[in-house]
Amino acid sequence: MNAPDTVFPFDAAIAAAADKLEPKVVAWRRDFHQHPELGNREKRTAKIVADHLRALGFDEVREQVAHTGVVAVLKGGRPGPVVALRADMDALPVTEEVNVPFKSTQRTQWNGMDCGVMHACGHDARTAILMGVAELLAGLRAQIAGAVKLIFQPAEETPPIGEDGGARLMVEQGCLRDPDVGAIFGLHVVSILPTGQIGYRSGPLMASADDFRVFVRGVQTHAALPWLGIDPIVVGSQIVLGLQTIVSRRMNITHEPSIVTVGVFQGGVRGNIIPDEVKLEGTIRSFDEVQREELHAHVKRISEMIAQAGGAKANVHIHRWYDVTVNHPKLTEWSVPSLERIAGDDRVGVIDKQCGAEDFSFYQKAVPGFFYFMGCTPPDRDVKTAAPNHSPRFYVDEKCLKLGVKTLSALALDWLAANAG
Ligand SMILES: [Zn+2]
Ligand SMILES: [Zn+2]
Repeated sequence: MNAPDTVFPFDAAIAAAADKLEPKVVAWRRDFHQHPELGNREKRTAKIVADHLRALGFDEVREQVAHTGVVAVLKGGRPGPVVALRADMDALPVTEEVNVPFKSTQRTQWNGMDCGVMHACGHDARTAILMGVAELLAGLRAQIAGAVKLIFQPAEETPPIGEDGGARLMVEQGCLRDPDVGAIFGLHVVSILPTGQIGYRSGPLMASADDFRVFVRGVQTHAALPWLGIDPIVVGSQIVLGLQTIVSRRMNITHEPSIVTVGVFQGGVRGNIIPDEVKLEGTIRSFDEVQREELHAHVKRISEMIAQAGGAKANVHIHRWYDVTVNHPKLTEWSVPSLERIAGDDRVGVIDKQCGAEDFSFYQKAVPGFFYFMGCTPPDRDVKTAAPNHSPRFYVDEKCLKLGVKTLSALALDWLAANAG
């Protein structure tokens, strides 16, 4: 094996800079944690990010991309390809229950309801990490062949009802073009792994996520005279059970798993009236775009046909949220040695598919992308019982931040070196 400093000339510089930057990254993360902002409202966060990038001398700092996003380019000392790194800045309508000195006590409105705001998915950590990466790479720019594009996006957790936003809009507004990006990397901090541990997976990693709503229209009548109406509660109940046969009877589960869940069943006002209509709402998850279409067709047909059989009518609405997060197999294979070198061979492993969704998938549809998970549960806690992402008790062990800075920096620099003309 070659000496690391001959093969990877930046490793010593990455390690030294990451050590030096760690207190800053922790401070940024705490500041963001204490001042969380919901999707498309990340004005304060975006300003701190943009000011930082300008102060570092980034060549282009574009603000208000997809409402509040920031896209910046750092050109190296020599020409070469362009690599992108992405973080997201939005928090969630969750009331924090973690007792830290920088606990969020903010309150706001979410879709018309009063609620707390919390960085319950660790986007504070991801934004702070990418700010650290920005500073690290700016310090090495003279030696870089090519350019690094940093993407700080809003609204990963979906924008408020009635608004557009997130990665889909970032891509539409050209964040991967001019200069054109050759590959993109991103990470997520997760409770399911201990600090220091990295999880990855080639191919489908996270599910597509689509919402559906079914309005079952019957005919209202007296509860004691059901034959004079059409009972949408009974028809709706049959639809719930019918939908559960899609994954168990219709899908080839040996190819990829999938999920159809009904999470809302609403209808009726009192026990002695059969109502006019009931509403079902649910989610569809899949790991394959062809199966995703099949699932949609089954949900629609089963709902409509069961309703018809009962004399009712079902109106089915399906909203496509996020595509499957698919790690480019070749890029994944290429990335793993970099992660192992930085984190340690025994600290990097393959993880199971995750039924959660990520809008990183929209970047991966446009260019090869690699998305990995980094543990943030302290080693003295059990990952099986640690509060998951989105919980009001979600806790980020700040010791993970430095590893995030180092791995993203190394992936960017390794990729530029490997793809220099
Ligand atoms: Zn989340
Ligand atoms: Zn997240």
